[in-house]
Amino acid sequence: MMEERARIDALIRAMTLEEKLGQLTMLDAGRVITGSGQPVDMMTAVRTGLAGSLLNLVDPTEIRMVQRIAVEESRLKIPLLFGLDVLHGHRTLFPIPLAEAAAFDPDLWRRTAQAAAAEAAADGINLTFAPMLDIARDPRWGRIAESPGEDVLVARRFAAAKVQGFQGDDLRAPGTLAATAKHLAGYGAVAAGRDYAPVDMSERLLHEVYLPPFQAAIEAGVAAIMTAFTDLAGVPMTANRAVLHDCVRRDWGFDGIAVSDYGAIAELIRHGVAEDRTAAAGLALRAGVDIDMASGVYAQSLPDALQRGTASMEDVDAAVRRVLTLKAKLGLFRDPYREKRTGTSGSSGRGSLRSLAREAARRSIVLLKNEHAILPLAASVKRIALIGPLIDARTDMLGPWSALAKPEDAATLLDGLKRALPHVELLPVEALDPGGGEREGIPAAVAAAAQADVTVLCLGEARFMSGEAASRASLDLPGRQRELAEAVLALGKPVVAVLMSGRPLTVGWLTERADAVLAAGFLGHEAGHALADVMTGRFNPSGKLPVSWPRAVGQVPVYYAQRPTGRPLNPDDPFTSRYLDLPNDPLFRFGDGLSYTRFTLTDMRVEATSLGPSDHLVVTVEVCNEGTREGEETIFLFTHDPVASVSRPVLELKDFAKIALPAGRRGTLSLGVAVADLRYRDAALQPVLDAGTIEVFVGANADRAKLHRLTVEIRSTPSPV
Ligand code: BGC
Repeated sequence: MMEERARIDALIRAMTLEEKLGQLTMLDAGRVITGSGQPVDMMTAVRTGLAGSLLNLVDPTEIRMVQRIAVEESRLKIPLLFGLDVLHGHRTLFPIPLAEAAAFDPDLWRRTAQAAAAEAAADGINLTFAPMLDIARDPRWGRIAESPGEDVLVARRFAAAKVQGFQGDDLRAPGTLAATAKHLAGYGAVAAGRDYAPVDMSERLLHEVYLPPFQAAIEAGVAAIMTAFTDLAGVPMTANRAVLHDCVRRDWGFDGIAVSDYGAIAELIRHGVAEDRTAAAGLALRAGVDIDMASGVYAQSLPDALQRGTASMEDVDAAVRRVLTLKAKLGLFRDPYREKRTGTSGSSGRGSLRSLAREAARRSIVLLKNEHAILPLAASVKRIALIGPLIDARTDMLGPWSALAKPEDAATLLDGLKRALPHVELLPVEALDPGGGEREGIPAAVAAAAQADVTVLCLGEARFMSGEAASRASLDLPGRQRELAEAVLALGKPVVAVLMSGRPLTVGWLTERADAVLAAGFLGHEAGHALADVMTGRFNPSGKLPVSWPRAVGQVPVYYAQRPTGRPLNPDDPFTSRYLDLPNDPLFRFGDGLSYTRFTLTDMRVEATSLGPSDHLVVTVEVCNEGTREGEETIFLFTHDPVASVSRPVLELKDFAKIALPAGRRGTLSLGVAVADLRYRDAALQPVLDAGTIEVFVGANADRAKLHRLTVEIRSTPSPV
């Protein structure tokens, strides 16, 4: 690295201002606009050093060709970064993050990122704009689909696993990608769930909930951070020096690159904090944004800002140094094409990607209801009506951020059931279109259901209904799907509902009446096989919800880690914190998810009931598989500080762990948290550890009334050695 540092110093000395700003410019290969605001040919921009990175170039041959121009024909021969949103797979798609979070399995999260990185790196990509780490507690926001859900510990572990998966231990190794933790910060809290809308939150919420996933990504060595489009209490994140510089760089020691979101530097003008592009350029650079993604403002207007004195050459040089350092870490100066590829593009590589995709998809499925043991489907079932807009929707199966994946390679539920149940007669009816249109119609669906032993209703959203710019004011099934489902349910015959969506849906009317309900999210290429594995019992479902499902939009935000009120629920007192027309609790809780077997927890114990500040709280619990099939259970450890100097959430997740058990067997699971991690921020937002009682809860979901509880004492003095 010494040698690399010297090379970087020499390059910076040799660079013209225009070349420096080129390194700070990321061009969209699809829409090349440079400093002058005029479209230019991408090759010319690269050849003349006006671009240091490109996004959305996806053809491996073109990538090679453009890289060759950069390293052979440009004056300083600096290699390019090639960025792409590899969110949940590249050509082979895994479940969307919100679905995959349901697996509660950091090793799986790591392995799918690693596989996606290898596939994308083989195509010449070296930077991904993932993982997305925005805590999401508002299902109206379409980007909840890209997030790991509502909980801060889950998002922290997701961050660490994804960064490790994408980057490996050394970015020079083949098959790795530089990862980007996005979107710093608070984007998930847009007002009323409307994308790009203003964000207001307390400093406490910011520091306790929205920022920690980014800190976890940084601790895992993430190469890049992307700032959010949104503001935070009036300060757009693209210009938010307090968060990006003071907190992330200075306090946390982040030394990687910060990239703006798409076109966001220019948006500072419409945010109303910059009078023109020159002012916008100065604000973003001063805040610590190194790379201008696709607005052309740095290239065009930083020279003026330098002249006006609103930007400094030291800041330009520091940003250029960070960009060049990342290129060096990726090994691009020595091996610009990253030729030492892994074997994912060959047929055997493909096969193992598909089997990982199937494993990930199966483990992401959440069984929300299963009455009359309707699932797994019995051998006596001879005829299944398969009804709904999503039974064979190849493209929708893949979810958002799937432009490069081939829909024709996706397995739909119809494909999956056909293959898994060759002797069962399937009556498929695509009654409606997922976007709300008509296809074969509701009467055809009812006629098929009337003849079947079991009806599988496959309902949900089209893929364009979640992701960016895809907020919804209603969380109902779109179009006439409710009418379709009601018509089928009215027959009074057995119904299994399969829900595919990028968000929680308000479907209490359906989950109450269907015999079984599976929440699938968008599962990727192996969706249909994974669902068939679960429905036929080849795989025992183990997913759990990483986000609460509201009963009605009016409950939003509904999440488990709320603070207590001074007016707890009391049936005899009308003046409590409640709705007149709905219960407070969600339709499904964080952690809900059933199995084909049944687990019980007994013998919860703590290793020590009195703990000092540097101790570890360790809880063990006996888990017993009481059923007749092997299965896997996820157990959660929550704490609550009942008396603190500020009111603390009723439950805070501190650990989770999984255990796989054969039928009838028991095992011991151990969960824990460092006492130091029981600290909270006092009224002045300083982390403190109070001496006193802490409640410890262990169980299968965030239903406080059903969790096993005990207490420990925290001392301010260390334990004797
Ligand atoms: C999104 C980012 C994404 C970027 C590049 C933006 O519109 O907000 O999440 O990484 O585009 O595709």
